[in-house]
Amino acid sequence: MANSGMTRTYFLRKTLRLMLEFFNADEVNLLLRVYDDSTRFELIKYSPDDFRFNFFPQLNNASLHDYGTALDEHWNYILSGNINKSVSFVTKEGGLWIRMLDNQIIKNDFIREIQLDKYLAAGELKCLFITPFLLDNERIGLFELKSRSERFLCDFDIDFIETFVHTLGMTLLNQHTQAALQERVKELSCLYGMSQIAETPYVSLDDLIYSIMDLIPPAWQYPEITRTRIILDGIDYSLPDFESNDNKLASDIMIDNKKRGKIEIIYTRERPELDEGPFLKEERKLLDTVAKELAMIIKRRESEEDKNRLQNQLHHADRLATVGELAAGLAHEINEPLGSILGFAQLAGKYPGVPDQVKRDLEKIVRSSLHAREIVKKMTLFSRQVTAQKKQIDINQVIEDSLYFYKSRCQKEGIKLDIKLQPDLPFIIADPVHINQVVVNIVVNAMQAMPHGGVLNIKTLTSADEIMLIIKDTGVGMKEEVMEQIFYPFFTTKKAGQGLGLGLSVVHGIITAHGGSISVISEPGKGTEFKISLPINLPAASNTSE
Ligand code: ADP
Repeated sequence: MANSGMTRTYFLRKTLRLMLEFFNADEVNLLLRVYDDSTRFELIKYSPDDFRFNFFPQLNNASLHDYGTALDEHWNYILSGNINKSVSFVTKEGGLWIRMLDNQIIKNDFIREIQLDKYLAAGELKCLFITPFLLDNERIGLFELKSRSERFLCDFDIDFIETFVHTLGMTLLNQHTQAALQERVKELSCLYGMSQIAETPYVSLDDLIYSIMDLIPPAWQYPEITRTRIILDGIDYSLPDFESNDNKLASDIMIDNKKRGKIEIIYTRERPELDEGPFLKEERKLLDTVAKELAMIIKRRESEEDKNRLQNQLHHADRLATVGELAAGLAHEINEPLGSILGFAQLAGKYPGVPDQVKRDLEKIVRSSLHAREIVKKMTLFSRQVTAQKKQIDINQVIEDSLYFYKSRCQKEGIKLDIKLQPDLPFIIADPVHINQVVVNIVVNAMQAMPHGGVLNIKTLTSADEIMLIIKDTGVGMKEEVMEQIFYPFFTTKKAGQGLGLGLSVVHGIITAHGGSISVISEPGKGTEFKISLPINLPAASNTSE
């Protein structure tokens, strides 16, 4: 039986039953002390077909019963081998063999001292045999047989049983080692499986969690009735057959000292009580390790994602800077010839006697040149070539001024303006004309994104060293591909004549020149939110505009 791979509890239950029947006893008791860990098993026969098996794990006190009497101490004498072997009831191996004849127990000092008479009377017992398990001369446990009948064993049997108990002790230890090994193999397979999953590239977090959940049941004692649930950041990853009950083992998923979720194991049917409910202490340790490993895998993934996002941002900023340089060069080169075209067209128009048709054509040249100059000006703003006229400003006031012309337009177009400006904001150093341009450009885009009306939220907030301006609309929103390009000059999704694609590039140029930052969140069909942060104390380097 010891080698058949059954669980330790099941093995002991069967062994005790075998002992009980073989010796025709009424009670068998077994105390095992392996590696400082004491466990007691008992099997009691109440009637020929009424047996009770009890199991008491992790006893603090290596005692057979917790009666709190001198008797308890006596088990410890036997276990420690300090028993006086000259006393008549003490066996060869230092156990006890006591029987009552004609309902009389021999009253001697020893029996009285350990109150054995009371113990026997309480259990209506007539015979008691108790012997230590010896392994390499070390006492690793106690074996006890009790009977309510006088006709139970004879002196001759005692030697035989003591020899037999040695074999039993060895078998138990062997079984214990095997079971511990089996637990260890299950634990390592589970953890190895987890590390393999964690190493697999391109696996989504959801798939990763489900794969880990599949690894857990085989590591538990009753895989077929084991169900697992992982809850992470409020998301419940259980399968439909998970139903919480009291046979539960749980461990928190802690990431950076914060509880982010938990792993739970349940048995769908009742199982005998073990170390923690129906679970082994090895299983508690394993679950804690699995929770820690999972936390580590998630943390590693998150820092990898952070790294990628930062790299993308850097890449984006790099490209914007390159495009900025290009725009600056282009604007510089175009400005001069454009000035000449405009100047000479205006001069030519003033020449006396110019035919009307030529005059009209010259006016067209002037208008087109002025339009081109406007574009060049925006390009220089984007590439931060314009000297900002910075002074102390109250940003709330600048925002109010910028919105002045748009309030009635919003009303006409069915757009509800919701303005929440935090009062008493600290002053910042900025160019009010440029900040006005920022607000107008974002607000105009937002209005264009809400052709059928909506809500436009504008709010300001402050933190210790920054002022935040948030402009949010409930418009058409943007797809990821659009969002990635909105700050590039000449990027537009609008029809020709409706948009030049310079509005947000100008916004970006101005905010960067002010030492601030701008970010956007958008979802198609839901809306868009621009968040601008401006430093309260402008860093020295940005104080003078390039
Ligand atoms: P333009 O408005 O001339 O197209 P912008 O640089 O201001 O140029 O904007 C670039 C693009 O960004 C727009 O064409 C539009 O696709 C997108 N966009 C900007 N703001 C919004 C918004 N609030 N909602 C949806 N899309 C927007």
